[in-house]
Amino acid sequence: MNRKYRKTIIAGNWKMFKTPSETRAFAEELKSSLPRAKRCSIALCVPYVDIPAAAKILKDSRIAVGAQNVHWASEGTYTGEISADMLADLDVKYVIVGHSERRQLFLENDLLVNRKVHAVLDAGMNPIICVGEDWDQRQIGVTLELISYQIRTALAGVTPEQMRHVVIAYEPVWAIGTGNTATPEQAGEVCSAIRGVLRKLYGARIARSTTIQYGGSMNENNAEALLAQEDVDGGLIGSASLKVESFLKIIQIANQE
Ligand code: PEP
Repeated sequence: MNRKYRKTIIAGNWKMFKTPSETRAFAEELKSSLPRAKRCSIALCVPYVDIPAAAKILKDSRIAVGAQNVHWASEGTYTGEISADMLADLDVKYVIVGHSERRQLFLENDLLVNRKVHAVLDAGMNPIICVGEDWDQRQIGVTLELISYQIRTALAGVTPEQMRHVVIAYEPVWAIGTGNTATPEQAGEVCSAIRGVLRKLYGARIARSTTIQYGGSMNENNAEALLAQEDVDGGLIGSASLKVESFLKIIQIANQE
């Protein structure tokens, strides 16, 4: 990480875990145990139904509330869907877009991800755009090309001014929920390549100030080495964000001087 130029962001992705009551208990405990140092930003991306509980307890705290998905349209006949304005109205600050579980299980493609990125930005929130290769793609050596394509497509039409709100998360699919973490060097290499793509698209100043997280089995034991990489500016954390103790340890590591 490099705090001189960009924010370090530790974000939890709870996926489909925890009820509103469990959310209340977690948020109270996390809020009361945060370290004093404020060197990293913190977000909790919770299931839709948990947002009101999280927002109520975390209001006036330094923990932002995030969502894990959004619909691309502003409103309409989309039974079961949730719009960006609905989320913004609940004080949601971050929205995960293009998570690999959505891409794999719900067939979301890069063009849809781009529409969702615009919906989030238009509603005044910050998209966390997930990109990453699967194991076969890494083996045949197309990781950097694939990620460059994912980034370019997700950001099509996003203006330099809007880039202030964009967060990128490099999440190798083979490392998500598997316990297989990318080595710090692998994570650093891809995050630095992502910054290179941003430099070509938006110039050096914007590339330097964009937060690029790593996600994929990050936990309290490997966070320090991953965050020591110059281009890894935080983490998107799944299973280790479900327990206050492990999530807090990662926050403490990201807060170290
Ligand atoms: C994720 O869901 O974004 C994630 C990184 O999960 P895990 O930390 O469990 O691999």
